Amino acid sequence: MITAVYPGSFDPITNGHLDIIKRSAKTFDKLIVAVLNNPNKTPMFDLEERVDLIRQSISDLNNVEIDCFSGLLIDYMQNKNVNVIIKGLRTISDFEYEFQMALMNRKLNKEIETLFMMTNSDYSYLSSSLVKEAFRFGGNIENLVPDIVIQKMKEKL
Ligand code: ADP
Repeated sequence: MITAVYPGSFDPITNGHLDIIKRSAKTFDKLIVAVLNNPNKTPMFDLEERVDLIRQSISDLNNVEIDCFSGLLIDYMQNKNVNVIIKGLRTISDFEYEFQMALMNRKLNKEIETLFMMTNSDYSYLSSSLVKEAFRFGGNIENLVPDIVIQKMKEKL
């Protein structure tokens, strides 16, 4: 049985994230979506809200668990006894960053493998930060994030 961890900030979850979650849930026996608690950043949604939005967006997937972590991802993975990290890849700049991260994580723990899943071309330009920026200036973000996210973003304004 192979379990993978899909880590990220998910502030908030987008349809690009959702696509990676659905495809990973099909590929692995179990997927843990691990939401990063980063005290150095001020997110739009706090940790609990981010987890909640993911939960409501994936209610039809029964082999996906949602969890939070802070500190080093590989420490979290060791505690959970999981050794596959899933990352989404959109652009060359994603690649450069993820390449460094993957090699650093392997240096820290050689048992852990990072696997990359290519973005769905429909969402290759999509990031949480771009969605937030478009929304702030009144852009239509329908079909880019789950409806529940749009609802919550409207409440925040
Ligand atoms: P972002 O703000 O870039 O969406 P996250 O930290 O929430 O950042 O991203 C978590 C993971 O999801 C990363 O591996 C990232 O590459 C991936 N990801 C984010 N958006 C997409 C997308 N549209 N298509 C594929 N992968 C994505």
